[in-house]
Amino acid sequence: MSTASEQEIDIMYGLKTVLTNIENAVARRSKELPQITPRLIAVSKIKPPKLIIEAYEAGQRDFGENYVNELAEKSNDPEILEKCKDIRWHFIGHAQTNKVNKLLGVPNLFMVQTIHSDKIADTLNKQWVKYRKENEKLKVFVQVNTSLEEAKNGVEPPETTKLVEHVLKNCPELDFKGLMTIGQYDYDTSKGPNPDFLTLAKCRQEVCEKLNLDINKVELSMGMSTDYEHAIELGATTVRVGSVIFGARPPKKQ
Ligand SMILES: *Cc1c(COP(=O)(O)O)cnc(C)c1O
Repeated sequence: MSTASEQEIDIMYGLKTVLTNIENAVARRSKELPQITPRLIAVSKIKPPKLIIEAYEAGQRDFGENYVNELAEKSNDPEILEKCKDIRWHFIGHAQTNKVNKLLGVPNLFMVQTIHSDKIADTLNKQWVKYRKENEKLKVFVQVNTSLEEAKNGVEPPETTKLVEHVLKNCPELDFKGLMTIGQYDYDTSKGPNPDFLTLAKCRQEVCEKLNLDINKVELSMGMSTDYEHAIELGATTVRVGSVIFGARPPKKQ
């Protein structure tokens, strides 16, 4: 038996709509920005394996989770293991050193988007050797706290280059792929471009100039259900979308 709210949600329709909107936003994106085709991450936190399998069967491959325990549980779900062989799990929650082993043991872990300190980078780098397959590096994004909110993780924008440099120089097991931000919720875009997205794009510019990296190879993960199209127009290459695909989540307990 599924609950009423699960029955109401048409995942295939939701995915199709989001993918069409992404395509249209790409067409509006400034031609001066790197023309990287955006990757859609379906954020499935709190949602049951059944809905993940449904999205997978509709063609979705990238999924995001915020909590290590929940990710470990879902990624080891026998039905998901059997039916979703090419699933790519993205960890988008707070990366803590005491949960690194559980995180790295996740089958089909594709990327950790939330490197926020030298310490977590070093721990992932050291432990990955035990979990990697075929000597593949672990793909990582560096998280930037663009809105400087205390409740949000990530390095402050001016510290971004230093952390990226640390990953490049001292973490041979990690493959630096880009920058990620959460930013403030419910920004009113009638006031102009979202400053969080502009800041993240500026951080990328600086990182690439100072460390001599090709800007076309450094991604930006930004944008969620309410603003993924806006984020793409401002250069997002990865958007993390949950509720418009899987339905609203219950409000967070305080
Ligand atoms: C929950 C979450 C999302 C998706 O949020 P929606 O508003 O449901 O699209 C994206 N990124 C992170 C880091 C999240 O925690």
